[in-house]
Amino acid sequence: MNGSASTPGTLFVVAAPSGAGKTTLTRLLLENDPGIHLSISYTTRAPRPGEENGKAYHFVDVPTFQAMIERKEFLEWAEVHGNYYGTSRVWIEQEIAAGRDVLLEIDWQGAQQVRRLFPGCVGIFILPPSTAELARRLTGRGTDSSEVIARRLAAARDEMRHVGEFDYVIINNELQVAFADLAAVVRAARLTNGRQVARHGDLFASLLES
Ligand code: 5GP
Repeated sequence: MNGSASTPGTLFVVAAPSGAGKTTLTRLLLENDPGIHLSISYTTRAPRPGEENGKAYHFVDVPTFQAMIERKEFLEWAEVHGNYYGTSRVWIEQEIAAGRDVLLEIDWQGAQQVRRLFPGCVGIFILPPSTAELARRLTGRGTDSSEVIARRLAAARDEMRHVGEFDYVIINNELQVAFADLAAVVRAARLTNGRQVARHGDLFASLLES
């Protein structure tokens, strides 16, 4: 089982710069499609207000994270904006072995690692509709300094430089349209020949037998 086109489960890898609306879009997808299971990453960053341990992330300290790296417990891990983030290897392997569809919300570095391990994964990148709109979304409540905003824009641009590495690109101008696009990608990925054979092997066999 490797999450390739010939296994029943599909591995979706979603990346985006901050300000593209990734969390809103993936939350909508998960609410509307109970067949997709979200991977909960491990991180060393501090929880933000309202973020529950085990829901948004598994929050761990740096020594714990490093011990997990040593024990090879991560499928991929990366340092993003000064904190460590990683995906549980065991969890993903179990989900894929059970034929379930899995969603990873990770950065471009993690996506590169996952692509090497699971060449059949489906990469989706979410873009904002314009630089002006991205700047507006990154400005927050208007309390941040122009330097902070410039830093956020530069980080977003670094992430967006990797858009070409992904199979699908969704431009999040209008939320409902972008969500329909995301749902369409998921649906199409489930209908590839390899995955249909993997899911409906008996049907194929019975229809094709002479
Ligand atoms: P945030 O701290 O704002 O939730 O996430 C910061 C960045 O880390 C985002 O780009 C997010 O996609 C990425 N990220 C979250 N979890 C993981 C992970 O498990 N692995 C990698 N490589 N990146 C992650």
